[in-house]
Amino acid sequence: MYSEKVKQHFQNELESIRDAGLFKDERIITSPQGAEITLKTGEKVLNFCANNYLGLSNSPQLIEAAKEAMDTRGYGMSSVRFICGTQDLHRELEYRIAKFFGTEDSILYAACFDANGGIFEPLFTEEDAIISDQLNHASIIDGVRLCKAQRFRYNNGDMADLEEKLKEAQKARFRIVVTDGVFSMDGNVAPVDEMVRLAEKYDALVMVDESHSAGVVGKTGRGVTELFDIRGKVDLITGTLGKAFGGAIGGFTTGRKELIEMLRQRSRPYLFSNSLPPAVVGAAIKMFEMMDETAELQDKLHSNTEYFMEKMGKLGFDIKPTQSAICAVMLYDAKLSQDFAARLLDEGIYVIGFYYPVVPKGQARIRVQLSAAHEKEHIDKAVAAFEKVGRELGVI
Ligand SMILES: *Cc1c(COP(=O)(O)O)cnc(C)c1O
Repeated sequence: MYSEKVKQHFQNELESIRDAGLFKDERIITSPQGAEITLKTGEKVLNFCANNYLGLSNSPQLIEAAKEAMDTRGYGMSSVRFICGTQDLHRELEYRIAKFFGTEDSILYAACFDANGGIFEPLFTEEDAIISDQLNHASIIDGVRLCKAQRFRYNNGDMADLEEKLKEAQKARFRIVVTDGVFSMDGNVAPVDEMVRLAEKYDALVMVDESHSAGVVGKTGRGVTELFDIRGKVDLITGTLGKAFGGAIGGFTTGRKELIEMLRQRSRPYLFSNSLPPAVVGAAIKMFEMMDETAELQDKLHSNTEYFMEKMGKLGFDIKPTQSAICAVMLYDAKLSQDFAARLLDEGIYVIGFYYPVVPKGQARIRVQLSAAHEKEHIDKAVAAFEKVGRELGVI
């Protein structure tokens, strides 16, 4: 029964979230996702906080491909994959993902959250060890929780610490080292080349979640294995279709054939959740075709990021070094980060200020995400707004 006691409890909980300043309000957008978006208030702003790295969220080619798939394959599958939810398009997309990453096979999920949630439990038992970066994504943490393997955690990107943990885990039957490819708050790339070397030395598997790196990192966007020239050396890669790869929905795991086959047999979010809709699958196939044809979007994204970093650095802003399209403009103070973001919105620039507990105490910042959808004048406008607000608030 939804008693007064239950109701009161949750009202109090919500109140304490508000009091702590952690209540999340959602800004409502009335346009498609893009470099410029329209808010419900009618304001038009430049968007620097989407994961729309390649600017494909409103791509006419992807919309066309989605429509075509809907016309020829229908709207929904009304089934999980292994009953009657697998179309030719699903297999084709899995094949294309493997081709893109230079892996053996792939398996689709409703989201990368599910890919990570369903990857460990089918493959590892209490005899095994999972060695995870301290800053790994929530979905990896949840996936690890669902598995009985022994758990080890190493400090973010700290390879000496990882080596210690690998030594401690030598008694386990199998070991797997797990990392995000790009960490979303700093934009730093995990040292996966070094991880692969340590994994060889200490007989461990390697898994990389490429959600923020796939499509972005590496000359042609093939992710960290391209950046470090280690294609074929990472055993499992997870990723999302919800960021650079079109921004709709969908996730995947790609890697060693036997591991992928095992997931198809045993991974619970795959077995007990609906098949991706044809429109999403058809558009994703088209997206990978486009990636095969040209790296124009990556070139533009990389030059946009360099341009922004250079201009902001010249103005005297303190920005963390980045190898991704995430630029953390450090302000350190929580309130300042919120005031700064609010003032930028007045100036027509939409960014988010992050502070504790999303980032460590005293490490508040504004996270700027560049996109291939941005033109030079968009970036110039953002930099001018940063300069104006930065002087006003005494940051530069
Ligand atoms: C965004 C993200 C996810 C979740 O992806 P979805 O497809 O939106 O569920 C998982 N891992 C990392 C590292 C991410 O950045």
